[in-house]
Amino acid sequence: MKHVRQFGGGSAEGRATDKMLLGGKGANLAEMAALGLPVPPGFTITTEVCRHVMQHGVGHYPEGLAEEVAAALRKLEQLTKATFGDASQPLLVSVRSGAPASMPGMMDTILNLGLNDDTVVALAARSGNPQFAWDCYRRFVAMYGEVVMGVVAPSEHEELPFDRILDDVKRTHRATRDQDLSETALREAVALFKAEIKHRTGTAFPDDVRTQLWGAIGAVFASWNNPRADYYRKLNGISAAMGTAVNVQAMVFGNLGDDCATGVAFTRNPATGAAELYGEFLFNAQGEDVVAGVRTPEPIAALAAKLPKAHAELVKFAKVLEDHFRDMQDLEFTIQAGELYMLQTRSGKRTGRAMVKIAVDLVAEGKLTPREAVLRIDPAKLDEVLHPTIDPKARPPQIAKGLPASPGAAIGRVVFTATTAAEWAQRGETVILVRTDTSPEDIHGMKAASGILTARGGMTSHSAVVARGMGKCCITACNTLRVDAAKRTAVFVGGGQERRLKEGDTLTLDGTSGEVFLGAAPLVPARLGEEIGVLMEWVDSFRKLKIRTNADTPADARTARNFGAEGIGLCRTEHMFFAPERILAVREMILANDEAGRRTALAKILPMQRGDFAELFRVMDGLPVTIRLLDPPLHEFLPHGPAEIEEVATALGKPVIAIAAKVAELTEANPMLGHRGCRLAITFPEIYEIQTRAIGEAAAEVAKAGITVLPEIMIPLVMVPEELRRLRLLVAKTFDAAIGSEKIPYTIGTMIELPRACVVADQIAAHADFFSFGTNDLTQTTYGLSRDDAGRFLPTYVDAGVLPNDPFSVLDPEGVGALIELAVRGGRSVKPDLKVGICGEHGGDPSSVGFCHRAGLNYVSCSPFRVPIARVAAARAALAEAANETKK
Ligand code: ADP
Ligand code: MG
Ligand code: MG
Repeated sequence: MKHVRQFGGGSAEGRATDKMLLGGKGANLAEMAALGLPVPPGFTITTEVCRHVMQHGVGHYPEGLAEEVAAALRKLEQLTKATFGDASQPLLVSVRSGAPASMPGMMDTILNLGLNDDTVVALAARSGNPQFAWDCYRRFVAMYGEVVMGVVAPSEHEELPFDRILDDVKRTHRATRDQDLSETALREAVALFKAEIKHRTGTAFPDDVRTQLWGAIGAVFASWNNPRADYYRKLNGISAAMGTAVNVQAMVFGNLGDDCATGVAFTRNPATGAAELYGEFLFNAQGEDVVAGVRTPEPIAALAAKLPKAHAELVKFAKVLEDHFRDMQDLEFTIQAGELYMLQTRSGKRTGRAMVKIAVDLVAEGKLTPREAVLRIDPAKLDEVLHPTIDPKARPPQIAKGLPASPGAAIGRVVFTATTAAEWAQRGETVILVRTDTSPEDIHGMKAASGILTARGGMTSHSAVVARGMGKCCITACNTLRVDAAKRTAVFVGGGQERRLKEGDTLTLDGTSGEVFLGAAPLVPARLGEEIGVLMEWVDSFRKLKIRTNADTPADARTARNFGAEGIGLCRTEHMFFAPERILAVREMILANDEAGRRTALAKILPMQRGDFAELFRVMDGLPVTIRLLDPPLHEFLPHGPAEIEEVATALGKPVIAIAAKVAELTEANPMLGHRGCRLAITFPEIYEIQTRAIGEAAAEVAKAGITVLPEIMIPLVMVPEELRRLRLLVAKTFDAAIGSEKIPYTIGTMIELPRACVVADQIAAHADFFSFGTNDLTQTTYGLSRDDAGRFLPTYVDAGVLPNDPFSVLDPEGVGALIELAVRGGRSVKPDLKVGICGEHGGDPSSVGFCHRAGLNYVSCSPFRVPIARVAAARAALAEAANETKK
């Protein structure tokens, strides 16, 4: 078995398609080398070796690996005309992690390996630049000390030991920037670094280059399992079994002088999607400087002026690579003495907005078909495009400005450490994480925060890349910000004044402009761009599922219609009852002792409901509107506490004691399984009767005005067919009477939300024009799991892997899904054209939408903001099915 693959020198033993074996970085380095791009030569140790190490323990490698690495190293020496560890012409290498799935910055990389007290002298002599040689050496010792020997910051509040030492050295030598350090100062830094390593670990920094190499290889494999990589994998659903590859690559130097640079570029703007080479670089620096955000870099355009040849080549290669991969690429490069070298390419992480624009633009440029473009869309990421933004008409004055690293608006309370962010978010606070800079260790806090603000960094620094990946608002390089994480304070300086911030203060971030505001700024709904319209046309041409919305108010209905909803799949009438002027009438109805009392109260409710429905029908002109009759447990409407009881008693002119007694009588032990849904109407038919009358009268009134009304009346929580048979008669009779001579096509159907209903669906279908699966209740009743209490233990189930995910968010295909399939089969065996949809929260979850497509449903219904997401998910499900069929 071959465990090592070469690349460079015009050829490669791998291709981009070998990502599982070579990792994304290694596979694409091979691809670039094969394409003839200037890639420093090297070799990749495969992910198989990582899996071997995971199985057999640290330091246990497959047989023959040592020989393979030695042979690959000899080949590298020939290609570079340098020798590893040689005291006159030393070969220096980087040892780079690289997993099959992109995990930016989560694992470790070591540069300038092969330096020791002898080779550094040779490097100084060869380059004629001792300052450069010692700069490489101090970087190497620090990286090796941290990554391999484990010399790290003792806590979140403290600096890395090597950073602290370097700051001290800078201070004593009066150097403000890293590149101002003299050879003497750098020598001093190296000596202090080595002393620190010895002091902290009891082991000396190794001079032997082969010891260095194997130490680094071992550390990179081990970094696969470091906590931040583990967390990132969980967050992104990446399997922990894959392992990382290790890339050993000849060094090129961006820190040799002012005709040298290192940088990161995107072939298109990753925030907006604009077709422009977009990126940042630093003169006279090494890669990690840009990625880690140590210095604030310059925009790529500035490269054209100083190093035009390298810039022109970068533009050319960016195009070559984008055309080759047919997707926006994220590139890493280094310029040594005016010569450009390519060090990495991968599909670039991007915002939702950029994702849409790039996909649509690539079709216009003839690089993708519309079908491929739709398959490139991550439906969940569309959410970002739909996020509210800061009201342009009511923008408060800004207090600071940084780089708009990841768009969107965020309002929250300030915290200064990742751990605090996670803790506060856990107890339900919305927080903004404010840091000098974020490091990969902060990933859990970034996930917990609604926005991120850093003093340092750039558009391509760790925080920016990770935030964009998460779709989270982020501002970097806010130069007027000074953070004191230990004291939990920060200050914005400049303009002759200071503004102090303490933990818990509220800030608003505008990630689209980079502006920071004190307090909470007003938000407005997002405006959808032109590209999304184009994309949605393709989406709609591919999908088979209809997408409806769950809307209880005309405002929600209007929003959803704008987002492309093709009807209302669920209007919950009870949500109309909570307005203060209505709740009293509802309470009166519930507390009434007899039918006459209930009818008196219902007569007050009737005109209000009629008005609600009329408005909804007007907004949904020409589209179906499914109205669910009263469903929730009555206790939700009962007066709670003495004050409310007294209020009701006064309003109804009854003694407090009588009301209190009635409340006690109506209180149920288990309301979710109690007197609710159609059970209410079996006992008190007048409730559904009056609701139906309101619907019928509203429909007739609106239809007279020339509006097309398509009401669908839905009866919830049916458990036996007889319930539906009776209530259908009642509803039909009442509706017909209410519309008088007006001709209105209407249907009567049921919600299927109990396992029993799924099993006897054929019998239920005899009385139903449609089924709508209430997957929230169906999940609850199938699992026997209370939705309101599951939050206490369900997260443990998911974390521990007992459940793959929360079944209330992602429809469970095996249990709940099987019941749905059973019910669809049963229903359609009686009525082949039975219309079937779902209206639970799952309707907006992409994987659940996929299930609904495969189960042959007619529509899904979801909240208004999820409508575009569901449309895309439905199209992707249809395309995936078509692709499967052609395979067969
Ligand atoms: P990450 O996965 O964290 O991006 P990389 O392995 O890509 O880590 O290394 C980070 C940076 O180190 C690269 O962007 C590049 O600038 C620099 N680097 C890595 N290998 C080399 C090399 N052989 N020569 C010069 N710079 C390198
Ligand atoms: Mg990289
Ligand atoms: Mg329900």
